[in-house]
Amino acid sequence: MFEYAPAPESRDVVDLKSSYGLFINGEFVDGSGTPFKTVNPATEETLAEVATASSDDVDRAVQAARKAFGVWSALPGAERAKYLFRIARIIQERARELAVLESLDNGKPIRESRDVDVPLVAAHFFYYAGWADKLEYAGFGSAKPLGVAGQVIPWNFPLLMLAWKIAPALACGNTVVLKPAETTPLTALLFADICRQADLPPGVVNIVTGAGETGAAVVAHPDVNKVAFTGSTEVGRIIARTVAGTGKKLTLELGGKAANIVFDDAAVDQAVEGIVNGIFFNQGHVCCAGSRLLVQESIQEELLAALKRRLGTLRLGDPLDKNTDIGAINSAEQLAKIRRLSDLGESEGAERWSPACELPGKGFWFPPTLFTGVAQSHSVAREEIFGPVLSVLTFRTPAEAVEKANNTPYGLSAGVWTEKGSRILWMADRLRAGVVWANTFNKFDPASPFGGFKESGFGREGGRHGLEAYLEV
Ligand code: NAP
Ligand code: MG
Repeated sequence: MFEYAPAPESRDVVDLKSSYGLFINGEFVDGSGTPFKTVNPATEETLAEVATASSDDVDRAVQAARKAFGVWSALPGAERAKYLFRIARIIQERARELAVLESLDNGKPIRESRDVDVPLVAAHFFYYAGWADKLEYAGFGSAKPLGVAGQVIPWNFPLLMLAWKIAPALACGNTVVLKPAETTPLTALLFADICRQADLPPGVVNIVTGAGETGAAVVAHPDVNKVAFTGSTEVGRIIARTVAGTGKKLTLELGGKAANIVFDDAAVDQAVEGIVNGIFFNQGHVCCAGSRLLVQESIQEELLAALKRRLGTLRLGDPLDKNTDIGAINSAEQLAKIRRLSDLGESEGAERWSPACELPGKGFWFPPTLFTGVAQSHSVAREEIFGPVLSVLTFRTPAEAVEKANNTPYGLSAGVWTEKGSRILWMADRLRAGVVWANTFNKFDPASPFGGFKESGFGREGGRHGLEAYLEV
């Protein structure tokens, strides 16, 4: 192994304020709850104080969105499109600022926020801008927007999840009240500034920060017409109960435990890159992460040797360093959860391995970790760890691979690695997963719908399908 000189991205591009308010009706305003701190998980340094929206504040936001709905939904689609295009272009112009702030608040490597998150965010706004005046062409006839959308998102892709929620909602003529996650509110507030810069009519986008209680107030508000949630299956259940019988339209994007299936005819080096990208991208804080590797028994030894060699080259550390592959775990709570589930894996009898890897003294870190000798009943094969931890299982036949892959309460994604196109199609027909990648993994495109089966939720985001969730059809 050779050393790299550190190549940190400068933070100067970000104008961090010491405190942030809520974004309601086009203005930044104080919240009436107790403000909370958001920290940089790589250093534990407090980045800023952020307002907490009480249920009264949420009510003000919903009222602003309701009032704006009259104006926004009456605009011709082509006019709404202009605003969305403008937002997309400003995101591109301010891409570096957004990427640095995302890495500071979330802990993800700048390589990812700069090259994956932010470009995809802009792409989503461009994509849905294109649909705004073509809803009829898209097959929705004269379908009407729903009204006010209440949207609650998690911390793993703060800005990208915001884009997935806001872009289609606005394209269809809805207005939104969005609650970002407590540990990663800053890029949503920078996005609010972008809305102002784009002259978006006040009230079309409202951002209410706070903890779970704020999210619950958004979801339960009687004047919200549509609830869109991305997060854990546990909170998804609570939300489904709250919304049941209210007539609110609901989409849930929940957890996952994807199988990444490697057949003996796969190109091993490419498969290794795909496995690494599948589980170590974004520290494994990915709902569709390939957290279960199913490898055909005959190539197990060769593949695992190559994988271990590759893991030895991953660089963990400063998220702002352009050489960094693995950044910080987003919070102390998430780190504790990863530790608990990994310790459980060991005590249940799976074999744990990590490459030699020095962890920084401050901040929240977890080394890339492999479990071999994993049985289907082990916790590490069943529970979503949401961290850089891969469980390896083996199979002999395609039918066994399908059975093991589907042996999970989740069904968000899967990967298949093989030379044979016919086998890819055979597998894709049988895998109970919303997305099946072939000879690649974790590829996202705004034109492609994304969503789950079973406990991974329902509804699709992205593509033409993504419009359906925001129209009365
Ligand atoms: P979480 O605890 O469910 O939180 C998600 C969001 O819901 C946060 O904004 C949270 O606020 C808020 N919240 C908490 N309790 C609430 C309640 N009772 N009512 C309304 N809102 C509430 O999930 P997480 O741990 O942050 O995120 C990780 C999970 O998200 C994983 O399971 C992952 O698989 C899933 N995920 C799914 C997708 C997908 O597309 N399917 C994408 C990304 C992530 P706080 O921040 O204050 O807790
Ligand atoms: Mg933070």
